[in-house]
Amino acid sequence: MAISWLADVLRSAGVQVVEEGAWLSRSAGSSFAPVGVLWHHTAAQSSASRPAPALQICIDGRSDLSGPLCHALVDYNGVFHVISANRANHAGRSAGSGPIPAGDGNTLMVGWEIDYAGDGSGQGGPVQQMTAAQYDASVAATAAVLTRLGRDASSARGHRETSTTGKIDPSFIDLDQMRADVAVAMGQAPPTTPPGTPFRTYASNVNVRPTPDTSGTPVGTLASPTTVYVQCQTPGQSVTANGYTNDLWAKISSPVAGYVNNVFIEGPASLPVEACAI
Ligand SMILES: [Zn+2]
Repeated sequence: MAISWLADVLRSAGVQVVEEGAWLSRSAGSSFAPVGVLWHHTAAQSSASRPAPALQICIDGRSDLSGPLCHALVDYNGVFHVISANRANHAGRSAGSGPIPAGDGNTLMVGWEIDYAGDGSGQGGPVQQMTAAQYDASVAATAAVLTRLGRDASSARGHRETSTTGKIDPSFIDLDQMRADVAVAMGQAPPTTPPGTPFRTYASNVNVRPTPDTSGTPVGTLASPTTVYVQCQTPGQSVTANGYTNDLWAKISSPVAGYVNNVFIEGPASLPVEACAI
């Protein structure tokens, strides 16, 4: 497929766009069926007076890798320079990350090359953070493209998450926070961690009770071993199962709010959590 809608979708999201020449036909091959967006930094030092130092190399490619090297380059001022509507050589192989499967990353993802130096200190190179304008434009553009692709914010990844060759880009960015910002831009609730401490259950068909005893109708059932978030524990009815007896109950917030006897939770009989307030 070609993402010939890219420039229009970005403009509709309020992103400044420069269409770079023959971007609609510029291509690095035919296999392109994107299911996500991949974030990069170029490792070039940008500035107000030289906002897009890596633009030409992203268009033309390098001696060892033919262009285009991304779908858009994001300059120092947050302007999106749209380079290709087709397959681009930006991702290499994908190791698989979040909902993005392992495979040919250039088939699977749309790529933004955000033009800043990142952390080049390991190679004695420059060090530069992403500008606020680049961050904000990248979030807005990613939200718009994922909406168009019918994907949620989890389908935005950083190259360092999908790389099989130790890529570090994009430097200085909390990728979970950036995804949360994309989710907000898409009108979705950001992914949140439930309150409490995560523990695992190990048994099947564990009932979650409204009170720390077996008298109440279960508010839910944990069909198979899962992660529960324990807020506190409290003494209650003694329960025996699988050769253990325990009278402590964990008050959990997720996946269902209620009480689970500690006998069904991995760990010591008394979990390292606080006692529930009476
Ligand atoms: Zn990269």
